[in-house]
Amino acid sequence: MKKIGILSYQGTVAEHKKALSKIEGVKPVEVKTLEALNSVDALIIPGGESTTISKLLNIFGLMEPLRRRIESGMPVWGTCAGLILLAKEIEGEAAHLKLMDISVKRNAFGRQLDSFYTSRLIPRVDDSPLPLVFIRAPLIKSVSKDAEILCEIDGNIVAAKQNNMLATSFHPEFTDDLRMHKYFIDMIKE
Ligand code: GLN
Repeated sequence: MKKIGILSYQGTVAEHKKALSKIEGVKPVEVKTLEALNSVDALIIPGGESTTISKLLNIFGLMEPLRRRIESGMPVWGTCAGLILLAKEIEGEAAHLKLMDISVKRNAFGRQLDSFYTSRLIPRVDDSPLPLVFIRAPLIKSVSKDAEILCEIDGNIVAAKQNNMLATSFHPEFTDDLRMHKYFIDMIKE
């Protein structure tokens, strides 16, 4: 049984938990404490408000321990706000975990596109298109070093991977499609 943590201070925790509970061989675990963090094989940082989640990571003293766990190879997946937390660079503000070689712009889609739904092929994940839900989503402006682009929309990067780190500016937890969650779980074996 693989224990998949969900950083549970704020955001799309229930949605990720529900998706994980439909996958065989996986136990979702809410992570708020160091003890819980140390018990999981991988961690999802959900969507929500990146500044709020960052503040709570500091208040609960988990920012440094989490950074160290990710640096030592624990698979991590940031969806939307989670992607912002992983980035080494955020346009116009200070970065948080500073781990992934991506440069990010928050709330990057214009007003009309504030929230939208589309679908795209992500060849590394599957050979048929995945449904993509965007909610006040960030964009990855550029990737560097070992970070690899997984998906682009009109030249804008919306998914990337760097070794044990996965980042998507969309929310698979708001769809019934489990392929992105399964792709992440497979990263545990890598
Ligand atoms: N706009 C949020 C932020 O900047 C991210 C939105 C989301 O996670 N859906 O933190």
